[in-house]
Amino acid sequence: MQKICLDCGMSIDEGTSRCPKCDNCLDSQHDGSIITADIAHQGEHVEEALGKMRVEVDAARNGMGLYLRLIVGSGVIRDEVLFALQGVQADGLIKSFEVEPANAGAIKIRLK
Ligand SMILES: [Zn+2]
Repeated sequence: MQKICLDCGMSIDEGTSRCPKCDNCLDSQHDGSIITADIAHQGEHVEEALGKMRVEVDAARNGMGLYLRLIVGSGVIRDEVLFALQGVQADGLIKSFEVEPANAGAIKIRLK
């Protein structure tokens, strides 16, 4: 899969952190968009939801979005995801996260 440098438009292999053409830091580039992923409404167990959360965070970090919204519902999955995200943030993989003020069933994660 390829991504595009937002500064010069060069097409770059996923996983590259600096643009070989203009030397911009690709990991900090974003287009301001919000990616939404539902990880809790197909009967997932907690472990399945946590696995999906990690996949979505990894995928979103490789993309150009600024935020990832995880739809987590209101039960134990939300509590476990919030707990797990503390570790993800401590590892420096995300900037911050919060339960959406207007929707307690969604967590908004700032990626960059
Ligand atoms: Zn570039």
